[in-house]
Amino acid sequence: TPTSRLDRLLANMGYASRREIQMLARNGRIQLDGAAFHDADKRIALTPDLETRLVVDGEALDPLPGFALMLHKPLGVTCSHKEAGPLVYDLLPQRWRRRDPAISTVGRLDKETSGLLLMTDDGKLLHRIISPKRHVAKRYRVHLARSMTGDEAALFAAGTLMLEGEEKPLAPAELEVVGPQEALLEVHEGRYHQVRRMFAATGNHVEALHRESVGGLSLPADLAPGAIRRLDDADLAAIF
Ligand code: URA
Repeated sequence: TPTSRLDRLLANMGYASRREIQMLARNGRIQLDGAAFHDADKRIALTPDLETRLVVDGEALDPLPGFALMLHKPLGVTCSHKEAGPLVYDLLPQRWRRRDPAISTVGRLDKETSGLLLMTDDGKLLHRIISPKRHVAKRYRVHLARSMTGDEAALFAAGTLMLEGEEKPLAPAELEVVGPQEALLEVHEGRYHQVRRMFAATGNHVEALHRESVGGLSLPADLAPGAIRRLDDADLAAIF
């Protein structure tokens, strides 16, 4: 198991500066296994149970580095610092926004797309999920401005559809028609505005877009827009 100096660990988790953590420890405000941990220079083993054993100011520890969460992304919130408007990061607890390594989104959803958005501070995990080689399926519920023609499913499944300005055709995607203007679409890539552009290529227009699942992990019905939930091992296993 890796170890870390306590001051470095907590500073990187966004609690305070290393100096301030030294002070907290000296003042008895950090406890390990129920006893004050006075010397923040000391190294501690980063075992998962540390999250329940280490207590700062009477509160259980934030997630240790190497964790993932799901957000029910609401409409009107952006995944990119380059875009105007509130960010998905604003929906995280204050302290989590000061972490190093930072928490980032696993791919992106458009500002006007809602649904399941994964976030993690684990670069390897992020890459495993978004890598096109892994073919992790992303399922979207799509509401359209006009009725479908009936040709969409075959076109998307063919693996030949070229989006404007791109050099490689899209990989096959599966369309399940729900109603004349409603469908479920499963894609295995994450190209820019992909679903909107796919329907634009059929002469239609996406009016509402909602991501229901990533791999075998679905947005839980009881997770309200704007709410987050940590992923456990079963959730992570379900993705792949
Ligand atoms: N496809 C899109 O067009 N937008 C998204 O947010 C996700 C997939």
